[in-house]
Amino acid sequence: MKELFKLYDYRENVNLKKLCTFRIGGTGDIIYPRDIFELKKIVKICKKNKIKYIILGNGSNVLFPDGRLSCLIISLSKFNSIEIKKNKVYVGAGVNLFYLNKVLSEKNLSGLEFSFGIPGTMGGFVKMNGGGFGHEICEFIDKVKILKNGKIISKKRKKIAFSYRNSNIDGIILGCTLNLKYGENVAENMQKYFDRKLASQPYEEFSAGSVFKRNLDIIPAKIIDNMGLKGVKINGAEVSKKHAGFIVNNGNAKASDVKELIALIRQKTGFNFQLEIVDYTDCEVKNESGDTTS
Ligand SMILES: Cc1cc2nc3c(=O)[nH]c(=O)nc-3n(C[C@H](O)[C@H](O)[C@H](O)COP(=O)(O)OP(=O)(O)OC[C@H]3O[C@@H](n4cnc5c(N)ncnc54)[C@H](O)[C@@H]3O)c2cc1C
Repeated sequence: MKELFKLYDYRENVNLKKLCTFRIGGTGDIIYPRDIFELKKIVKICKKNKIKYIILGNGSNVLFPDGRLSCLIISLSKFNSIEIKKNKVYVGAGVNLFYLNKVLSEKNLSGLEFSFGIPGTMGGFVKMNGGGFGHEICEFIDKVKILKNGKIISKKRKKIAFSYRNSNIDGIILGCTLNLKYGENVAENMQKYFDRKLASQPYEEFSAGSVFKRNLDIIPAKIIDNMGLKGVKINGAEVSKKHAGFIVNNGNAKASDVKELIALIRQKTGFNFQLEIVDYTDCEVKNESGDTTS
């Protein structure tokens, strides 16, 4: 692959632990397009050479495999522009939510306070329809800029199906335009939301956020807590003692430990909870005997 991507910022055999907040994973190859032109060319090369790829934001909602990742990772971290035109704000997919909130608070732009403290980028947040405290990002979206089949398209919010921690966007999100309002005490309110998260979620440990999705009145964290599963461990993976909806990595957890713990939670609770984290453990290079590498 090195030869194919020699014109780009392409890095081989990177440690996947450094690319995700779970700090779990083996190795993989990553490419950082500098702009849309490079991104288009990279996608074209992938298509021509049948190279599968995944898009990565800040890796705060993913579980990588323990061995070698079979897909190329495309990072949009360089798509980090913010353009403010009164209350309409264009945010590049690679913009980190902490930074975005800082910029918005300086302009007294209100709406996204609930997202302060979520360790993702705008691309991942839109794709996952992230939210909290009764809000979801889709409420504030005017349109999303997407690269699909080699073309850049702009999709209005009402043309996108957003659901709980999901969207049906199937292209690469380049950025989105938000509709915000001018407000007061924006920075203070952001901090209040973040303080509530810090008090209830294990920010001091490695995790990928809530492992399971809520489904109407079925709240996995409550059920897991009621079953007394907080603190249950498989090797380095543990049901957080602070928030039963999180699995934390004590430092040496493997993806296989997390997967086993997920299976155990489902078995003990009797619920086949749907995953909120994006599971890439199936995208692992297999050797000739069909075993996975590690
Ligand atoms: C401590 C902690 C607290 C959290 N709290 C919350 C919370 O309160 N609310 C909440 O909703 N989430 C929360 N999360 C989960 C996570 O931060 C969010 O889902 C976040 O929006 C993911 O963004 P990301 O950039 O890290 O995405 P990634 O984890 O990198 O990717 C997630 C998915 O989005 C896709 N994706 C990323 N960028 C793009 C793009 N540009 N185009 C197309 N697809 C893309 C990826 O392919 C992947 O499928 C928390 C996580 C942690 C670790």
